[in-house]
Amino acid sequence: MGSLTLVKPNLHLVDVDSRRMLFHVPSSSLFELDPLGRELIELFETRGDLSAPMLRAHFADRVSPQAVRETLEELKSLEIVHDSGAVASYNPRPKPVKNFPLTTIVLNVNTGCNLSCTYCYKEDLTTPSQGDKMSFDTAVKSVEMLLQESPGQPRYNVVFFGGEPLSHMPVIRQIVTYCEERFASLEAQVDFTLTTNATLLNETLIEYFNDHRFGLTVSMDGPEAMHDKNRITVGGQGTYAVVRRKAQMLLERYSARPVGCRVTLTRGITDVETIFDHLHRELGFTEVGFGPVTSGDITAFNLTADEMVDVFAGMKRLGQQYLEAALAHRNMGFGNMHQLMTDLHEGNKKQLPCGAGVGLLAVDTQGGLNLCHRFTGSEMPLFGDVENGIDKPALAAFVEGRLDRSNTGCETCRIRNICSGGCYHESYAKYGDATTPSYHYCDLLRDWVDFGVAVYSQIMVENPAFFDTYVSPRRSA
Ligand code: SF4
Ligand code: SF4
Repeated sequence: MGSLTLVKPNLHLVDVDSRRMLFHVPSSSLFELDPLGRELIELFETRGDLSAPMLRAHFADRVSPQAVRETLEELKSLEIVHDSGAVASYNPRPKPVKNFPLTTIVLNVNTGCNLSCTYCYKEDLTTPSQGDKMSFDTAVKSVEMLLQESPGQPRYNVVFFGGEPLSHMPVIRQIVTYCEERFASLEAQVDFTLTTNATLLNETLIEYFNDHRFGLTVSMDGPEAMHDKNRITVGGQGTYAVVRRKAQMLLERYSARPVGCRVTLTRGITDVETIFDHLHRELGFTEVGFGPVTSGDITAFNLTADEMVDVFAGMKRLGQQYLEAALAHRNMGFGNMHQLMTDLHEGNKKQLPCGAGVGLLAVDTQGGLNLCHRFTGSEMPLFGDVENGIDKPALAAFVEGRLDRSNTGCETCRIRNICSGGCYHESYAKYGDATTPSYHYCDLLRDWVDFGVAVYSQIMVENPAFFDTYVSPRRSA
């Protein structure tokens, strides 16, 4: 055996009580190190390269050379150690992208919205009556394109977005009827989801969504003062009172599925614990997730660096509550933490940050194909349209650009297979280029994932059944 060295970007060590856990970065998997593995890694960390004579001298008669060899072979097979001087490969060489296994189509049914939230990123937003509305014909072509591009899937998702999607219910009702018949004829399932500002909800609509088992998320930013800071009517009035009333009606009547809430954090709004308490404990949303705004066009709404520190500190305090609940076998409904736990549990090895452009495309009101709902109405060139299908060369070039991490800061980052360079739209808003990773809060993200790895390890050690109850069903749902 020549000398060996540690491949530091491929491992991350976390202590949980007296156990030393190894987070294996290439596969996003967690192992508990046995005493020999632990001693070997600590030895590499203190001495750097290790040769056979050094190892023999260190372990002497305490551990058999055979046991040391076997453990080193295991570490080598995990690419945690390799021959000194060898060139480490941290990321698989990107392969040409030929297939786009679309299973989700987002229909941007109306560019109009009845609210005028100050921080809204939509370039094409207008009032509902003046908004560009999607025709039934375009919606049908979108669904047919989905089936043509990706036939034979057992399950498809149709997502409604806007503007405010409830401001164009006629096309939603028509396409739901169409989809239910069309997908049933193919013996495939179809799942509908929708994010709404809730203001247009009424009992009839709730009954309709119940009947068709919609997955519903309400956009709401917290208690009155926080919500009304930005989520206002076209006339400038706060919308908290109406959103609260409608959300309560929804939560009382909706039985098909749990209802989630999406919070947008902007400058001056960072108190995630108070917001969570209000939305989850007081109002009763099953899950609350936070989206910090860091790179919007309107820079006055972007969280400052100090505010981002506060936000992540608050998220970690909520994460601690999540851990305590998980050890008592409860999911406390903190969406960001639950997503991280899901990613870690599934050993998610994300080469890309999300499904946009691969498993998901968003259709604008005129039938143009966009990476996701956030790009509709933007200046970003389209990737085809529903008449002519996906512009595969253009989309492949885009995706391959993000798959190739060489010469980027992500290449050796320890959370590269969880973050994957971050949201394309954030990059686009910040740098005008969706392929550039969004580097603006990497240290905070790494700290957040480290925290998540420690939480995950502790739940795995003390109550692994939590994942069977709360993570596996979510995956199959
Ligand atoms: S964007 Fe930053 S945190 Fe994310 S993978 Fe790249 S370097 Fe790591
Ligand atoms: S690009 Fe960003 S906003 Fe769009 S789906 Fe991906 S993570 Fe979400």
